[in-house]
Amino acid sequence: MQSAVLVNLSYIVASILFIFGLKMLGRADTARRGNMISALGMLIAVVVTLLDRQIIDFKWIAIGLAAGAVIGGTAAKLVKMTAMPEMVALFNGFGGLASLLVGWAEYQKILAEGWAGYLMRNTGTIQNFTSTAIILAILIGGVTFTGSIYAYLKLAGRVSGRAKVFGGQRLLNIMVAALIVAAGIAFVTTGAGPNSYSLFIALVILALTLGFLAVMPIGGGDMPVVIALLNSMSGLAAAAAGFVIANNVLIVAGCLVGASGVVLTIIMCKAMNRTLGNVLFSGFGATDAGAGGTAMEGELKPISASDTYYVLEAARSVVVVPGYGMAVAQAQHVVKELGDLLEENGTEVRFAIHPVAGRMPGHMNVLLAEADVPYEQLVEMDNINPTMPSVDVAVVIGANDVVNPAAINDTASPIYGMPIIKALEAKTVICLKRGKGTGFSGLENQLFLLPHTRMLYGDAKNSIQSVVSEFKNA
Ligand code: NDP
Repeated sequence: MQSAVLVNLSYIVASILFIFGLKMLGRADTARRGNMISALGMLIAVVVTLLDRQIIDFKWIAIGLAAGAVIGGTAAKLVKMTAMPEMVALFNGFGGLASLLVGWAEYQKILAEGWAGYLMRNTGTIQNFTSTAIILAILIGGVTFTGSIYAYLKLAGRVSGRAKVFGGQRLLNIMVAALIVAAGIAFVTTGAGPNSYSLFIALVILALTLGFLAVMPIGGGDMPVVIALLNSMSGLAAAAAGFVIANNVLIVAGCLVGASGVVLTIIMCKAMNRTLGNVLFSGFGATDAGAGGTAMEGELKPISASDTYYVLEAARSVVVVPGYGMAVAQAQHVVKELGDLLEENGTEVRFAIHPVAGRMPGHMNVLLAEADVPYEQLVEMDNINPTMPSVDVAVVIGANDVVNPAAINDTASPIYGMPIIKALEAKTVICLKRGKGTGFSGLENQLFLLPHTRMLYGDAKNSIQSVVSEFKNA
């Protein structure tokens, strides 16, 4: 009894540390400490659970811990910053699979002991409640697993990122979901005993199938939202697994992941001016790249690094708009160097941060923080946009979709309505990219053809390096 109180007190401490840690992750300057505080909470939860008398064999735990540490450590070391979204998708999927396995293992235990024995050993457990929790862990975990694996394959380019739609797809998905609900209710109401085993296996298969089917009609451009949603689902699956094994800290941690994932999903939908229903069911991205929208007119006007230097040297205010290309080029350090040189020259320098620039939420913040760009120089989209008409030069570094004017002035464009950084309103726009490549959405960008836009072609890091050299040699 006393040990149970101690265990739960430690779980409360761990939960408080999770909550404070999460709160601190909301700001770049406290994020690192927040991560450490959450990790401390997790350490307490893990150690206390391991010392709990219910753990009877450490052998498999040690093997699992070693295997997980080696795989996780190696993956974290090897993963490129640009491949982080895939990695997050994969880890969400494994979280879902873990919950599915916990639910399955508990069901096997019940089958081995019989409900009478199980309920006697686990006092306070109610049969219907436990079987409902098992089935929820199985279903949410299963959908999360295959949905995340498919999202991973799309993002990693192992399968086409395009939305795959076919006639009757929505009806099929609704039918599979309805079948799952009916079979789930039947599983619980028929007593979740040995007779329900085939129903149980059918539910596992249906859940795994629904994960694939649900992600299939979602295009690559919408994957960040899907990943945030799957992240939330992996939390809910963990919370269900927590109810299955009556572990309070797992329930709390699962709910925190579930809630924060939903909040992130909502923020991302707002950043794209889409509803969640539209993201999940519209089949956005099923058409050819560049399809939709008004035809492009005008010509691309290149600029050299030395002319870029003259333009920047004369500017009083410069806004840097970073995007995915900056991450690909790993140009953040040299961008910071350019920012410092401009400031020494008396120019006001700010960085415009679009919530979905790059390939994961906060991607640009992370890169710029890594390069020690002062936090005060990072300005959110809503705050920078009203000031854009007074900006002398907007330097767009490997950003495309997040500055595409079609989102605000082309009602025929698939991205119409998505909020953008209004780089086009600056007096001069310099765009750094390697060639004529489109952005993630596959759409052309009229910004590059505007009369006051110049293209500085080449890898962003090399291009900025050349401009920096011009500054230094001047
Ligand atoms: P985009 O993907 O729209 O554009 C990136 C541009 O960078 C390309 O046009 C490419 O042109 C250029 N580029 C690539 N490599 C380099 C390089 N080495 N040097 C210079 N330029 C380079 O990026 P944005 O950041 O503007 O937009 C993000 C997009 O990704 C949005 O559509 C968003 O919805 C989506 N997304 C966002 C996620 C998130 O959570 N942030 C996650 C997943 C998707 P070129 O080939 O000619 O060089």
